[in-house]
Amino acid sequence: MNAHVLGFPRMGTGRELKWALEDFWQGRLDESGLLSVAWELKERHWAIQAQAGLDSVCVGDHSLYDHVLDTAIMVGAVPERFLGHGGGSGLDTYFRMARGDADANVPAMTMTKWFDSNYHYIVPEIGPDTTFTGTSGQLARDIHRAVGLGYNPRPILVGPLTFLLLAREVGGVSRWDHMEALTRAYCDILGELAGQARWVQLDEPALCLDLPPQAAEAARHAYAQLAKACGPSQILLATYFGELRENLGLAVSLPVDALHLDLVRGRAQLQETLAVMPQSMHLSLGLVNGRNIWRTDLDASARLVDIACAALGEDRVMVASSCSLLHAPMDVESENALDPSLKQWMAFAVQKCAEVAALKGHGSAAAPALFAENRAVLAARNGSALVHNPAVAQRLLAIDESMLTRTSPAVARATAQQARMGLPLFPTTTIGSYPQTAEIRQARLAHKRGELSDASYQEAMRRQIKETVGRQERLDLDVLVHGEPERNDMVEYFGQQLDGFCFTSNGWVQSYGSRCVKPPVIFGDVSRPGPMTVDWAVYAQSLTDRPMKGMLTGPVTILCWSFVRDDIPRSEVCRQIALAVRDEVRDLEAAGISIIQIDEAALREGMPLRESERGQYLRWAVDCFRLASSGVDDATQIHSHMCYSEFNTIVEWIARMDADVVSIEASRSGMRLLDAFDASRFPARIGPGIYDIHSPRIPDAEEILQLLRKALRVVPADRLWVNPDCGLKTRAWPETLASLRNMVTAAKQLRAEH
Ligand code: GLN
Ligand code: ZN
Repeated sequence: MNAHVLGFPRMGTGRELKWALEDFWQGRLDESGLLSVAWELKERHWAIQAQAGLDSVCVGDHSLYDHVLDTAIMVGAVPERFLGHGGGSGLDTYFRMARGDADANVPAMTMTKWFDSNYHYIVPEIGPDTTFTGTSGQLARDIHRAVGLGYNPRPILVGPLTFLLLAREVGGVSRWDHMEALTRAYCDILGELAGQARWVQLDEPALCLDLPPQAAEAARHAYAQLAKACGPSQILLATYFGELRENLGLAVSLPVDALHLDLVRGRAQLQETLAVMPQSMHLSLGLVNGRNIWRTDLDASARLVDIACAALGEDRVMVASSCSLLHAPMDVESENALDPSLKQWMAFAVQKCAEVAALKGHGSAAAPALFAENRAVLAARNGSALVHNPAVAQRLLAIDESMLTRTSPAVARATAQQARMGLPLFPTTTIGSYPQTAEIRQARLAHKRGELSDASYQEAMRRQIKETVGRQERLDLDVLVHGEPERNDMVEYFGQQLDGFCFTSNGWVQSYGSRCVKPPVIFGDVSRPGPMTVDWAVYAQSLTDRPMKGMLTGPVTILCWSFVRDDIPRSEVCRQIALAVRDEVRDLEAAGISIIQIDEAALREGMPLRESERGQYLRWAVDCFRLASSGVDDATQIHSHMCYSEFNTIVEWIARMDADVVSIEASRSGMRLLDAFDASRFPARIGPGIYDIHSPRIPDAEEILQLLRKALRVVPADRLWVNPDCGLKTRAWPETLASLRNMVTAAKQLRAEH
């Protein structure tokens, strides 16, 4: 039996890679300095895997920016515009593709989420001029070094089917026309690596998606060539992030030597797969969750190992992580501030390697002690008073339809709200945050470090709020916000005030390039000990006669951006959060706040990868929003904000959220997406973002007016709100003021015309 993980985090325990990259980009570190940091990390990570008792170490999973970009480089898919800026080293081209070239005014390649994770990859392009040539480059050097150090390397590449499916078609080409040439490039790479490693891992998570009809034939054709090209090396076909389902037949028909299954996301597929495995194929069991931080149930996993061994014989079974450990933080041992029992329940990448090794050795002499310890820890977690709060369980049981439903339908509410607020036609507002200036960040940091007292910090934030409210009044905006100076992100602020959450000191996970996030951990039943935002909102409202929006993050977004406990369904955790948000909403209302915005930035990204599961997800996600928002009177106006633009398939669901006003991103599509929101399908009022906050560019009033007129072709005049695409926290004040001034001018102009 063999043991391995499918990939390892890249950044290092102290995020060394992040700092080295940023130094390199700033010109403080030269290329050889950067590469030596990368070598050191790779060697350290190989040592961790080997010392844990794994049989091979991952090679090619380490990347200076992104592994999909690495693959694009290896197959030669470098778009024309990134070449030839006076030559430059390979690394120059690489980072130009990843980050753009400001001097030459060449924007970076597109970036998007890697399946349903929070990792972002660089989207390869396939256009009329794309030619493929394969060179193993850095991968060959890594293998060489690993062999030199005495390791058994397993090179990892994104497989051709996944690469092709993730690529973007430009200039009217069809991706499938390029499979042949792409396959030849892969063959060249595998040919160069042939015999240098026993196993080559080709990642095909695309096999866990609903595939288009061309995919099967293309995959069969490609893998027939690849199998020939890699000589004595054997191919491990890695599938993850879901079940194979209807693609199982395709997967086992490919001429590969081993198939990897994600048994964390799809335990049920084991039996089914065992029944159809060809005689010679090995099976790699993905048992240790690469997407979460909890210790594995070794007993339950070992039972699956036994089932596989009984069916295939030990020689044909491998044990592994479910997917790459890229999505897990590095080492729980460095968590010194964590409650010791919570810490005991967790396993980060380093610990996950040991768990995989333990599963391989579950028949060995050392196993009984290891397994007993694991059993004891899991039992302690299951029974822990930290996890279970009977009052929360009681409240969940008491949820009924009436708690998901506002008193009156949207139209009646609109009348009550208008009577209360008397807003003009085309009301103007913003999405919540205003520029997070250096002053704000310094105050927050000093407070966190204990250098600024609670009282002085409060005072500093109040000063910011006061200034921001004054600026909005002078801009003559209709609905104001306090500006969110006290929050550095949308989830941490709430997590810190909710029971059931904890925070790691070093639980960083790569989001893209050098950027890492440190998600909160939901370890137990969630409840709200007290109001979280009411003081800020009340203070802000006291400064103005105009309506002040209370600003909250919605339950689905809090869920999606956290590490979530794995002992109850996600939907149940989400309902617990929704109840806490509901209490906050009611407290805001009781404190006199007439408009409350509940952001659901992550509603769409939480969608399951498979079409067939989306309806169920959307049902509970939308119900959680309704649970959070429906406890208020008709005259209290509920807003929601969603900053993305692919709504076509979910407009009905957004309508079912039953918010009074919804703001969305729309400027980059020139309002085209509004077509999906025609008045018959979408009864709520809507604020299509009229300028892109991701850029410092200042839109002029005329341009905004044009967009608003376009919006009016779809949205009735009495339902149209005017706002930017998203929050303004990443912008500076001068451009913010200038843009909003033009926005207000445009709204007033439009009013004059109606
Ligand atoms: N209210 C948040 C803000 O303005 C919304 C951010 C978001 O949608 N990503 O910053
Ligand atoms: Zn947004």
